[in-house]
Amino acid sequence: MQVCTRCIYDERIPSIVFDGQGVCNYCRQTEQFESEYPTGRAGRKILDELADKIKRDGRRRDYDVVVGVSGGCDSSYLLYLAKEELGLRPLAVHFDNTWNSRIAVENIYRVTRKLKIDLYTHVVDNREYNDIFKSFFKASVPEIDTPADLGLAATHYLGARKYGLKYIFEGHSFRTEGISPPGWFYMDARYVATIQKKFGTQPIKTLPNLWLGRWLRWTILNGIKKVRPLYYIDYDKEEVKKFLSEEFDWQWYGGHHMENRTAYFTNNFHLPRKFGIDLRFCEFSALIRNGQMSREEALEKIAEPKPFDEDILAEIKKRLGFSDDQFDRIMNAPRKTYRDYKTYKSLFERLRWFFWIMYKLELVPKSFYTKYTKKYSDEELKSLTRIFDLPVPVEKAVD
Ligand SMILES: [Zn+2]
Repeated sequence: MQVCTRCIYDERIPSIVFDGQGVCNYCRQTEQFESEYPTGRAGRKILDELADKIKRDGRRRDYDVVVGVSGGCDSSYLLYLAKEELGLRPLAVHFDNTWNSRIAVENIYRVTRKLKIDLYTHVVDNREYNDIFKSFFKASVPEIDTPADLGLAATHYLGARKYGLKYIFEGHSFRTEGISPPGWFYMDARYVATIQKKFGTQPIKTLPNLWLGRWLRWTILNGIKKVRPLYYIDYDKEEVKKFLSEEFDWQWYGGHHMENRTAYFTNNFHLPRKFGIDLRFCEFSALIRNGQMSREEALEKIAEPKPFDEDILAEIKKRLGFSDDQFDRIMNAPRKTYRDYKTYKSLFERLRWFFWIMYKLELVPKSFYTKYTKKYSDEELKSLTRIFDLPVPVEKAVD
């Protein structure tokens, strides 16, 4: 099996190609992103100019910018960056799907209190959320955490609208998280609505959904921009964790996306066991490209089973009302993808030219434009459904 000579992506990764030096297209794509989003002095200059513009635009408002927070490392640091380094007046915005870890909630309070930042939270009705969550299990698709991802995105816009703000900071960094291959995940509002209508027992009422019409209104009419400031800084996660603990008594919760139990369950149980998808491939490959992990260490670590806390599985079954039998049946049901349900995908493809303009105006992230509006050939579609050998081994976490 051919493995990239730089990262640990191999032939099993969808749409992968290797160049003459054996380097994969994802590494090359990251190089392109790196030149587009410089760090160091050039990156800082971009951030400072951006901060000046945000301050001018926010002059008559109570806040300058929405910062989405989860209690995780990236978003906690982003709050600090916005307030202390860039001199902005952030409003912290949090979406609560009622599955937060205790540590994450404490982290949010510790950081916002010390930095004297106001917090706007939207809490979804927990019975409704669990019903939607359950529908995604029944739909047999990989994206069971999509209601949370879209609810979070919509909540950021709702916070911005409420206070008339034009900017939303997101704590995403392609340098530490990597770029997940197209075909692994897809999400949009129509996808959520279709699945809930087909499998759910109640309508969507308190979950904010990112309907296309609303989204276009927020971005085009209201001119709300999403910005990813971490793209412009040399972001070393280990150093940041240390800094946050010392400065804010912030606590590490044990892994990427583990601040929330549905995200944890999705990444550590559902994706590897049902779909053979192991997100450590993306994360480790990103860290290698960024010089924060050696390729040898990554290959060694990826061969180890993925840790999993069985208590979370028990909680999921209990809260969603799944018997062991029902749950096993769902885990063994034939795998489906977004292409089995109604989504906006074909509309996004037809509007590719429009989203190119949106991306150039910085109204949508580049990753949205490249992944969501691309029409895949039949051959690519075949490779998109290719998955890892099942199951990726997982084992009980040692606390
Ligand atoms: Zn590579």
